[in-house]
Amino acid sequence: MSDLKPSYDCIVIGGGPAGSTAAALVAEAGHSVLLVERDKMPREHVGESLMPESYWVFERLGVLEQLIASRFSRKVGVQFVNNTGRESQPFFFRSHDPRPCSETWHVDRAEFDKMLFDNAATKGAHVRDGVRVVDILMRGDRAVGVVVHRDGTEHRIASQAVIDASGQQTILANKLGLRRVNPDLKKAAIWRHYRGAERDESGGGVKTIILHTSDKNAWFWYIPQADDLVSVGCVADNDYLLKGRGKPEQTFEEELAKCEGVLQRVAGAEPLDDLRVAKEFSYMTDQSAGDGWVLVGDAWGFIDPVYSSGVYFALQSAWLAADAVSEGLKQGDTSAAQLGKWEPEFKAATNSVRKLVHAFYSGEFRVGKFVTEHPHHHGNLTDLLIGRIFKPGVAMMFDDLDPWLQQQIAESNSRDAV
Ligand SMILES: Cc1cc2nc3c(=O)[nH]c(=O)nc-3n(C[C@H](O)[C@H](O)[C@H](O)COP(=O)(O)OP(=O)(O)OC[C@H]3O[C@@H](n4cnc5c(N)ncnc54)[C@H](O)[C@@H]3O)c2cc1C
Repeated sequence: MSDLKPSYDCIVIGGGPAGSTAAALVAEAGHSVLLVERDKMPREHVGESLMPESYWVFERLGVLEQLIASRFSRKVGVQFVNNTGRESQPFFFRSHDPRPCSETWHVDRAEFDKMLFDNAATKGAHVRDGVRVVDILMRGDRAVGVVVHRDGTEHRIASQAVIDASGQQTILANKLGLRRVNPDLKKAAIWRHYRGAERDESGGGVKTIILHTSDKNAWFWYIPQADDLVSVGCVADNDYLLKGRGKPEQTFEEELAKCEGVLQRVAGAEPLDDLRVAKEFSYMTDQSAGDGWVLVGDAWGFIDPVYSSGVYFALQSAWLAADAVSEGLKQGDTSAAQLGKWEPEFKAATNSVRKLVHAFYSGEFRVGKFVTEHPHHHGNLTDLLIGRIFKPGVAMMFDDLDPWLQQQIAESNSRDAV
């Protein structure tokens, strides 16, 4: 006998940060919600550095106190290290804005995601792990439920609204042919954890450090965590990193050898786990909602890991979509227009991060140099690193950054031509 009901007001696919947030908020609004996750929780996941702006979602979800009491490392800033090994001044969030919402955490994703998953149950959602959605039930263009597999048994479950939070699986976007890989950001990543690597807490907590390799073909993330662990990952073009170079272990070591800043920090540390690999993870979807369905988190799109924006975007899009779904269920309107009404503004706001990502990959975005030459933008850049994408005026930085970057690229090209 199944404990899955034949129908719910809302079904949420995927128990990552987006799915658990959406399920919690729709359930809290008084609707019946089923949240299904294919893996057994807790499950591991990449993406350990959060953006401070997630604070407001945590507050609304009621998990802020749990996070403050947690053993997760406090993230107090971001630092960049260029290909010559030159370190930018750290962007300390609380020097810019002293409020508690300007700090965040480096999390263990298994633990963090489980906390949010359990919270969805506390808020009244019916949550089930080990349940895989294998298809979306459609009546014409309208989503009317899902087909799930659990313990070898198939169940068809109806719903008025389906929230796809299936992450990079993008179930609905794949089914409807809406997923578009970004040809300029065909990246791949190789990463692992170390114990006993360098840990600088001089700013009152740890920083996410972004370091270029000497030839600028790749960059590393350096994310100190609890239990004396550090997550170290290498990101580069998919073809460069994964094609014709042998095993990922070898490639990782070759790139590490070109990144003095990471080499020094992990000297003497113990590499812990097998290397993990992710490839071609940047894409967008052509349509974010339809009648009876809406996409959130990575199922909506994923830009790039460099500024650690993925989890915040997952949480924030889930918040906005959950409110649209709750309102729609109350009014008997689960049209595309209702469920997706939050998305144009959200997408426009995320554009600032998209532009910063492209600046980063231009190879000429020396962050320290830019803010030295344009000190009035230090605040805007710090705001974007915090995640304040909706802050009025924050995107004005690009009025100066865009021409500055063009000039840097032109100067670099003329140097190369000599
Ligand atoms: C290399 C790399 C590094 C990154 N680093 C960072 C970082 O430092 N900071 C940051 O904020 N972000 C980072 N990200 C991005 C971050 O991992 C994601 O943006 C974030 O996890 C998105 O959350 P989500 O809930 O949308 O999806 P997920 O966290 O992926 O959750 C989706 C869930 O859906 C489940 N699911 C999938 N298919 C089904 C199905 N058929 N039925 C049921 N369940 C299903 C999956 O098992 C999964 O648990 C990184 C990403 C990459 C690729």
